[in-house]
Amino acid sequence: MTDCIFCKIARGEIPSRKVYEDEDILAFHDINPLAPVHFMIIPKVHVANLYDGDMSHQAVLGKILGKAGELARSQGLDDGFRLIVNTGRISHQEVYHLHVHILGGPEVLGPMLKR
Ligand code: 5GP
Ligand code: ZN
Repeated sequence: MTDCIFCKIARGEIPSRKVYEDEDILAFHDINPLAPVHFMIIPKVHVANLYDGDMSHQAVLGKILGKAGELARSQGLDDGFRLIVNTGRISHQEVYHLHVHILGGPEVLGPMLKR
């Protein structure tokens, strides 16, 4: 996907504040943070969202979750954090390249959803 903004970030064509990178995944800070710490982990391969993910993405999706705690701690989140994976219209997904948001900071998150 040449015109996908997160593919461009993964290729280094658009700058980002990098948290972590390896051959499969990239973590970088959200440009418009919703919490004191807000970064995203993406697969380098283009996958639009979890509807398009399948078992061929098992390794990279596992790696994203496997790295989440370590990367959260590296950004100072040692008392908890939240993952959000917006998927499709109802979730208000804006960028159609799968990304796992990691959000945290002292006492800012509140309950998961309001009743
Ligand atoms: P979504 O609503 O799709 O789950 O979240 C997309 C996120 O990507 C938003 O929080 C938005 O601030 C972030 N974002 C959009 N464009 C850029 C960009 O060019 N660079 C960075 N670092 N974040 C971006
Ligand atoms: Zn992409």
